[in-house]
Amino acid sequence: MSEIADKLIDWYGVNGRDLPWRRTRDPYRIWLSEVILQQTRIAQGMDYYLRFIARFPDVGALAAADEDEVLKLWQGLGYYSRARNLHRAAQLVCERYGGTLPADYEALLALPGVGEYTAGAVASIGFGLRVPAVDGNVLRVAARLNDDFTPITDAKQKKRTTGHFSEITPEDRPGDFNQSLMELGATVCLPNGAPRCGSCPVQHLCLGYHHGHAEILPVRAAKRARRIEERTVLLVRCGEEVGIRRRPKTGLLAGLWELPSLEGKTGANELRARLSARGWQVEKLLSLRGAKHVFTHVEWHMSGFEVTLAEKPAGLTFVTPQALRESYALPSAFRAFLSVLEE
Ligand code: SF4
Repeated sequence: MSEIADKLIDWYGVNGRDLPWRRTRDPYRIWLSEVILQQTRIAQGMDYYLRFIARFPDVGALAAADEDEVLKLWQGLGYYSRARNLHRAAQLVCERYGGTLPADYEALLALPGVGEYTAGAVASIGFGLRVPAVDGNVLRVAARLNDDFTPITDAKQKKRTTGHFSEITPEDRPGDFNQSLMELGATVCLPNGAPRCGSCPVQHLCLGYHHGHAEILPVRAAKRARRIEERTVLLVRCGEEVGIRRRPKTGLLAGLWELPSLEGKTGANELRARLSARGWQVEKLLSLRGAKHVFTHVEWHMSGFEVTLAEKPAGLTFVTPQALRESYALPSAFRAFLSVLEE
């Protein structure tokens, strides 16, 4: 075994955090934890993980669920396509493998939403297969260990790092080795120029540390600027109910429920005229505090209006605020406009 693997596994045995998904070798639970933790910090992810496990204790239970229920449980994590893929993959596992995840890296990789990192994590931790699991954390650790200034966003770099860790992954404890690397990246070799090299078990082997580069590595390619979209969001009320609608089946937040909105920023008078032109009978129009929501490639800059209607128009589904809270997965981009429902 390489000295790095040796040191990291020993360190992990003593310092690894006690987390619910580390108390199991159940590949389903490991898969679920990895998908959830791609979206969020551990503290928040833990609640989601426990809720998912309580509701869907195995692949079969997840596969049999209604998609809307899965999305509702996922609400707040964003990237809803990942929840859909998780659900679809569970159904495929039932169809192809009788409800048990396959103990095969390539077969895992072929499931919807399962990339190299997730397949590697499930294969190594859940099945003890000798495959690496390289994510952004591990790429950062590798760049520092090797004093490597190649941008970690470069696909070649990921390939090289995967190859390097494939060679030094021990036969007998691949899952522990992968988890030790992830744990080092999460708790010691921290991002944004703040590694805790004084607590690092592989400091003596770290070229970045010895050359004084630990804090400036890794290098990232410059990001493209996000596109800004202005929107006017409508909290439509009629009697005790609120109007929502489904988004289109493709594109951003595909197929999810949303508050209706108009492109661009619209003033009260113009909005009243536009809604009247649609045949909406507006009784009251109140301006709401604006909000901003950042997606990966686009930012929504939103203004908002509470619109009280005399009659329910076609094209919207009207639900009570309680039903909206409990049964509909509304993306967090719209959450800022719901606070008036609590008043
Ligand atoms: Fe990261 Fe510092 Fe350890 Fe190197 S010595 S691996 S930079 S924490």
